[in-house]
Amino acid sequence: MKNIKYYAFPSTTKEAVALLLNKRYKAMALAGGTLVAKTLPETVETYLDIKNVPIKNIKLQGGNLVIGAGATFNDIDLSKLCRGWAGGVISAAAAKCSSQLIRNMATIGGNVARPHSFNIFPVVLLGLDAKVRLSSRSGARLVDFQDLYSSGLGLRPGLDSLITEIVIPGKTRKWKCEFVKLAKTESSWESYITLFFSAEKKGKGLAQVRVAVGALSPKPFRAPETEKVLLSGAGPVAAATAFAAELDAARAGEYRASAAASLLKRFAGSI
Ligand SMILES: Cc1cc2nc3c(=O)[nH]c(=O)nc-3n(C[C@H](O)[C@H](O)[C@H](O)COP(=O)(O)OP(=O)(O)OC[C@H]3O[C@@H](n4cnc5c(N)ncnc54)[C@H](O)[C@@H]3O)c2cc1C
Repeated sequence: MKNIKYYAFPSTTKEAVALLLNKRYKAMALAGGTLVAKTLPETVETYLDIKNVPIKNIKLQGGNLVIGAGATFNDIDLSKLCRGWAGGVISAAAAKCSSQLIRNMATIGGNVARPHSFNIFPVVLLGLDAKVRLSSRSGARLVDFQDLYSSGLGLRPGLDSLITEIVIPGKTRKWKCEFVKLAKTESSWESYITLFFSAEKKGKGLAQVRVAVGALSPKPFRAPETEKVLLSGAGPVAAATAFAAELDAARAGEYRASAAASLLKRFAGSI
């Protein structure tokens, strides 16, 4: 932080992106500021405070749930739209953030801008097939959340681009979902494992399922074999066995693998 020379308050996305791209300022976006101060690269000379940029709204648009990147965990927890989506799982996940102080300041944009093992929203967004709207030199574009951390993206959000919206697709509105943060205490940021399960019913079977895993690595991942077993209708026990095997292969360790498998079995039994 000792290298910070300037503090900027842009009031539009366009102005913010222009400042990020201006080599003279060596700027980095700051939203709630809960993480950036701990992880600030030495090369950064300008804090680009985006609190005045109008990207905080939570709305329905074209049948999708659109969460502004500047919405805080508390905004999301209390939002009627989020509480009414997919059984309220997005609000329930926001409420699992470690403390009310952090929930008041931390934004969803800051939570997903960089991969971080213990951040809550990456695993949730992966399990909901979310998309992220980015504003950069070449204008606005919508990317699948699962591609946000791939080198092919060619952008470094916060340094050369801004996340403006998170788009949760309309198809997930009635999905049955569960988010689990398995941690030592409710107020821990660190967790043993985070899990996101979702399922869409079709008749007596399932049309779609997602099993997403966080906290084992900076980027969350899906468990494709477990998803296949769930879709096949083989039942909760078979799904739990497949999940334990996939987590074992991901070097989750015995405790995480067996606890997560039990949690999946409970979810599968409740669909
Ligand atoms: C004590 C403590 C407890 C915590 N507990 C939890 C917890 O339980 N769960 C959890 O998930 N996290 C937790 N965190 C982590 C952190 O608060 C979150 O990741 C938070 O969401 C970061 O959001 P922010 O708005 O504060 O981001 P900032 O700190 O302002 O920024 C973080 C990064 O994101 C970039 N950025 C921010 N907004 C944008 C945007 N719109 N577009 C592009 N880049 C952007 C910044 O440039 C920076 O690199 C905790 C942190 C602390 C200090």
